[in-house]
Amino acid sequence: MQVINSIVTMQEIAINHKSKGDKIAIVPTMGFLHEGHLSLIKKAVELADIVITSLFVNPRQFAPNEDYDQYPRDFLRDSNLAVAVGTDYLFSPEVLEMYPIGYNTSISIGGITDKFEGAHRPSHFDGVATVVTKLFNATMPDVAVFGQKDYQQTLVIKRLVKDLNYPIELFIAPTLRESDGLAMSSSNKQLTKTDRKSSSVLFLALEEARKIIALGEVKRIAINAVMHKKLREVLSIKIDYASSAMANSLEEPDYFLPGEEVVLLIAVYLGRTRLIDNTLVTIPKMLDNIE
Ligand code: AMP
Repeated sequence: MQVINSIVTMQEIAINHKSKGDKIAIVPTMGFLHEGHLSLIKKAVELADIVITSLFVNPRQFAPNEDYDQYPRDFLRDSNLAVAVGTDYLFSPEVLEMYPIGYNTSISIGGITDKFEGAHRPSHFDGVATVVTKLFNATMPDVAVFGQKDYQQTLVIKRLVKDLNYPIELFIAPTLRESDGLAMSSSNKQLTKTDRKSSSVLFLALEEARKIIALGEVKRIAINAVMHKKLREVLSIKIDYASSAMANSLEEPDYFLPGEEVVLLIAVYLGRTRLIDNTLVTIPKMLDNIE
């Protein structure tokens, strides 16, 4: 595995591989890799000839109050893990390489970014769209692998790829979880012991909502209420949102229709740690046993 810090070098390597007909995959990460990240890299190995894992803690997707400096980093550990699962190039630029003095361009995606994460973290998705655009331009991938863990982000990237005409196939990989259901995340390490114990409540709330949908509930506020009720069993929790929406558009109708795909989305604070999770559910078509 080669570590690349320069955008121009990364582009030269990508062009060279493309001229040989190699298919390139990119797995964008902010590092502090866990099994969830590694599952994305393994998927990329299946999908392409050359796998580039990027490791860049992107300051532009953190708000001033969001502890960019505190984000966990461990380059040596990350590079050992990345190579072990088949990364060919670890693209790890410095902040000034990505955003040199005078840098003045931002990619902004409308609509889908207005609510949920976008509403609670203004400018977050501009930061994401900007860095992903730069990563695509640096690595010229044929395939890009992202996690469903950041559900709204996957919609933003789909929009970006479509609107800017990138010839890139997207693969959205499932969320890897701890044994109690907590979605793996680099931030989980920051949880206190007590908060770590409570944190499985996100998964439990999603599962309760899934259950009432399977039993025939289609009213959006009733589905949301079940998640809120479960989450509030943890007294110290601060809920940013616990909501259901149409999976493709994030629209929030009063009632979901049979056969519709719905996403359940949760974001909370436990102590200073912000956790997000989601799940996809299809509204049952036939509810024979329900009046
Ligand atoms: P991050 O380093 O948090 O920016 O995440 C890099 C990529 O890994 C994103 O596409 C995430 O959605 C994905 N990811 C994060 N956590 C998980 C997880 N638990 N399972 C699968 N993919 C994940």
